[in-house]
Amino acid sequence: MIFENTLTFANRLDREDPLKDFRKKFLFPNRMGKDYIYLCGNSLGLQPKVTKEVTNLQLDRWANLAVEGWFHGDEPWMFYHKEIKRLLAPLVGAFEVEVCPMNTLTVNLHLLMVSFYRPTSKRSKIIMEAGAFPSDQYAIESQIIHHGFEPNEAIIEVFPREGESTLRTEDIVAKIKENGDEIALVLFGGINYFTGQWFDMEAITKAGHEVGAIVGFDLAHAAGNVPMKLHDWNVDFACWCSYKYQNGGPGGISAIFVHEKHFASKLNRFAGWWGYNENSRFKMDKGFVPEAGADGWQVSCTQVLPMAIYHAALKIFAEADNLEPLRIKSIALTGYLEFIINEVNKSIGFTQYRIITPANPAERGAQLSIIAKEKGKEIFDELVAKHILGDWREPDVIRFSPVPLYNSFEDIYLTGVALLNISKVILAPNND
Ligand SMILES: *Cc1c(COP(=O)(O)O)cnc(C)c1O
Repeated sequence: MIFENTLTFANRLDREDPLKDFRKKFLFPNRMGKDYIYLCGNSLGLQPKVTKEVTNLQLDRWANLAVEGWFHGDEPWMFYHKEIKRLLAPLVGAFEVEVCPMNTLTVNLHLLMVSFYRPTSKRSKIIMEAGAFPSDQYAIESQIIHHGFEPNEAIIEVFPREGESTLRTEDIVAKIKENGDEIALVLFGGINYFTGQWFDMEAITKAGHEVGAIVGFDLAHAAGNVPMKLHDWNVDFACWCSYKYQNGGPGGISAIFVHEKHFASKLNRFAGWWGYNENSRFKMDKGFVPEAGADGWQVSCTQVLPMAIYHAALKIFAEADNLEPLRIKSIALTGYLEFIINEVNKSIGFTQYRIITPANPAERGAQLSIIAKEKGKEIFDELVAKHILGDWREPDVIRFSPVPLYNSFEDIYLTGVALLNISKVILAPNND
């Protein structure tokens, strides 16, 4: 697409956007009567307008039915997660039986590692991307220690090449081959939170399996952002949070994927009563018998309130016909943002803003990570003061995530205008 740096052009794209009305389903943060331009859906997705209603509905069910809400009325809580499974499966390319909403993300990462990281003296290593999200680093580190191994020896990180910001698939694959049969687990982010790089998940999975390792992904920044085929790609396991691109609310419910090929094997797991075979769960018998599929990893009873919020948020994806149409818009929106950032650089006269996220749309989702050469934090703070909300990562990175469900091309155009004006003032020579 040939982009233009004009409001007329941005407005035309918005008028032609088949998904334009979805924006009306969300609440935008507002200060002193003015809505923000929200470019932070990678961190916390916006609240759908129906959220209050569905929450109140569950509060009413609790008030009116109390304990009977588990089995009676419409949508009894006992089976509430099943509707979420149905909505969730197409978003990640899985069968319903392979996914289940439960717990929170880091907790799920631990639970899945209990099943899928089974180190032996010969095979104990975990391959991961350097600069993974800290929670994942801590989870992995502590799992390794739990099994009596040394994190320094067991963790193999893949780094970008000198002078580069993102990873090359060939380097990831080479690292996997190099460590071969010493690798127990390949555990990557689907999209790296800092650089916005979308890894070649299929190639990584294939390379991991070729050396006999298990392959899992943390999809916090990928789920609801990019279309995936977890089942077909033969990914062993994955987990994600719902509160980023899926708008499931702060600290909202997480979900897991376990490939069906593992259902027949007797996997180690940290069990709880809610993962027990559904038909006989309330016999309260001794001896854990897991429910078939991903449901068998549930530990505690359904967290109905956050689940209700997640359910309502996922219904919006279904109304948009899931990720295929959203992805088309997302590629255009992010491409437009990239174009606008480069326009700002041109007007300033040098590369003040360097995008470290890959330029190839197949290697990124909605997020662009932008290194600000000079006075980045001051400029970022001024953007916020002007009602433009991205996020700031030390020491010098601004992340903007135009989300196709609720961002417009006009949002991007106006962000460019503000960024240029603010930069001109803050970078002016006499401003030191
Ligand atoms: C956001 C994010 C988390 C957060 O974990 P919580 O348990 O939900 O606090 C973990 N890992 C990654 C990769 C993330 O992007």
